Amino acid sequence: MSYQAPVKDMLFNIQHLAGLETLTQQIPAFADFGLDTAAAVLDECAKLTQDVIAPLNFEGDKNPSSWKDGVVTTTPGFKQAFRAYAEGGWQGLVHPAEFGGQGAPKTIAAACAEMLQSANMSFALCPLLTDGAVEALLTAGSDAQKAIFIPKLLDGSWTGTMNLTEPQAGSDLALVRTRAEPQADGTYKIFGTKIFITYGEHDMAENIVHLVLARVAGAPEGVKGISLFLVPKFMVNADGSLGARNDAHCVSIEHKMGIKASPTAVLQFGDHGGAIGTLIGQENRGLEYMFIMMNAARYGVGLQGVAIADRAYQKAVAYAKDRVQSRPVDGSVAGSAAIIHHPDVRRMLMTMRSLTEGCRAMASTAAAAFDAAHHHPDAEARKQNQAFYDFMVPLVKGYSTEMSLEVTDLGVQVHGGMGFIEETGAAQHYRDAKILTIYEGTTAIQANDLVGRKTARDGGQLARAVAGQIEATEAALARRDSAAARAMLKALRASRADYLAVVDFIAAQAKGNPNVAYAGSVPYLMLAGNLVAGWQLARALLVAEDMLATDPAFMGAKIATARFYAEHILPRTGALRAAIVDGADSVTELPLEAF
Ligand SMILES: Cc1cc2nc3c(=O)[nH]c(=O)nc-3n(C[C@H](O)[C@H](O)[C@H](O)COP(=O)(O)OP(=O)(O)OC[C@H]3O[C@@H](n4cnc5c(N)ncnc54)[C@H](O)[C@@H]3O)c2cc1C
Repeated sequence: MSYQAPVKDMLFNIQHLAGLETLTQQIPAFADFGLDTAAAVLDECAKLTQDVIAPLNFEGDKNPSSWKDGVVTTTPGFKQAFRAYAEGGWQGLVHPAEFGGQGAPKTIAAACAEMLQSANMSFALCPLLTDGAVEALLTAGSDAQKAIFIPKLLDGSWTGTMNLTEPQAGSDLALVRTRAEPQADGTYKIFGTKIFITYGEHDMAENIVHLVLARVAGAPEGVKGISLFLVPKFMVNADGSLGARNDAHCVSIEHKMGIKASPTAVLQFGDHGGAIGTLIGQENRGLEYMFIMMNAARYGVGLQGVAIADRAYQKAVAYAKDRVQSRPVDGSVAGSAAIIHHPDVRRMLMTMRSLTEGCRAMASTAAAAFDAAHHHPDAEARKQNQAFYDFMVPLVKGYSTEMSLEVTDLGVQVHGGMGFIEETGAAQHYRDAKILTIYEGTTAIQANDLVGRKTARDGGQLARAVAGQIEATEAALARRDSAAARAMLKALRASRADYLAVVDFIAAQAKGNPNVAYAGSVPYLMLAGNLVAGWQLARALLVAEDMLATDPAFMGAKIATARFYAEHILPRTGALRAAIVDGADSVTELPLEAF
């Protein structure tokens, strides 16, 4: 049941793929966050997540959060674990020092976030949502809102939520109906029902800061008439002390397939006269602010995919070394042996490992682009990195979460019948992972973003520029003479060709034949994610070959994992290309009435 944080792999990515040293040299604010600091931070985080938070994961599934008379009680141990997390300063790691944070690069903080999610996804959702609330306030909050709320969110006194969803408004936020009535004192009264609100009510902090999407009376229809409000559970006085209970109440929590310890609340605003809120930013720009926050949250959910995949992989490896069953086909063991001797079990473990490492590498590279986009002194460098990061967000979210389903499914399979039995915990990872392809925008919504905003809008220019970078890695591989480099070069070239053909196809069809382009949207997302993760493993392979003598076990494993990805995962792009380019019509051919 134990979790071992993959600190070495994370530091490898941070150093060699994300290029932390370049970031710290180019960005004065990060001067103190060199590799030694990164290693120290990751070691500390590993201790907390392994020793304090991970042991509560299984318990949370068995003894989830519960609701009684509007009060939510979290799993025993969560409250104390949250104190330890808050007192360690972890909530402030990536946020600005002026509000009590530590201003660390996302390149480092992302590794810590992954550990926290691996340790306990249900628990870690609370800090993830708080990060989102802080992000939104930093983006659009007034000076007073920032000064009062952000320090309390960062020190763990209060936590944050994101209130978008309503019964009739899920993927389509244009349908939001919660209403806001302006008051003479400049505040607003909020009325409406929000559903599926993660940590909408709980007992781990003194106050909960709800960020709520609502419409001001007379606002335009659709997404252009939505505003963002700050609605605290307890009103907050000017000096930051807590005031009266606000009219925002949890009327129930959901019974779920997974992440059971994370309370998913139905919140009722304004049943007793109106919940008092203050506007964040300007009226009718709420969705715009929320999208900034959602980009951070989407990246965070992508990391959840990597995290749960890693936890499932670790469990599967331990079981495969322990479970004795069947004689190995090569006769290497007389009689029955641990199942890890069977080639098919090795194939499953390598699939799990290579997908996890590939997605981790992709997320690490994206984090470095985020850091440069926000803090690089050169405006052009900021712009380029922002464009690359924006392209990566749907890939990190969409591909990493979809692959986490494959990995956790294989995790159950490696366990055989015991995987289906809850006491091993393998099934919990599988059930927990399923939410990742749904919330923060389903995979289809990520794919729409990739097709519409990230590909069709500029005629495929940015998507092709990414292919150009991949080509440069191929050139480096072509100068190598190892079997692994040859295998990677062959696969990467073929996958890049598949990708370029699809980019051309999507860019050409998106406007005139939207059904044709969008019929292939999710396959395109999977193709792009597969390729970009493979590209990062190709970069890792080049480094690992250079450093093989310094650390043969680790670097050798990195090379073997990259080669497996090249030979077993990258070739999937060929089938995706065929389906997208040749198979678009059959997606919508069957008439609606035939279903
Ligand atoms: C456990 C949990 C926690 C959550 N936490 C929060 C939270 O903290 N805050 C919050 O506001 N919300 C939260 N949500 C809500 C979540 O974000 C939504 O469930 C999600 O966005 C999908 O919306 P929906 O459920 O209405 O599905 P729908 O939008 O009804 O989607 C149904 C299906 O239609 C597809 N579809 C819809 N529109 C399109 C389209 N344009 N193109 C292609 N396919 C489409 C979807 O991909 C999906 O397959 C949570 C949900 C759950 C289950």
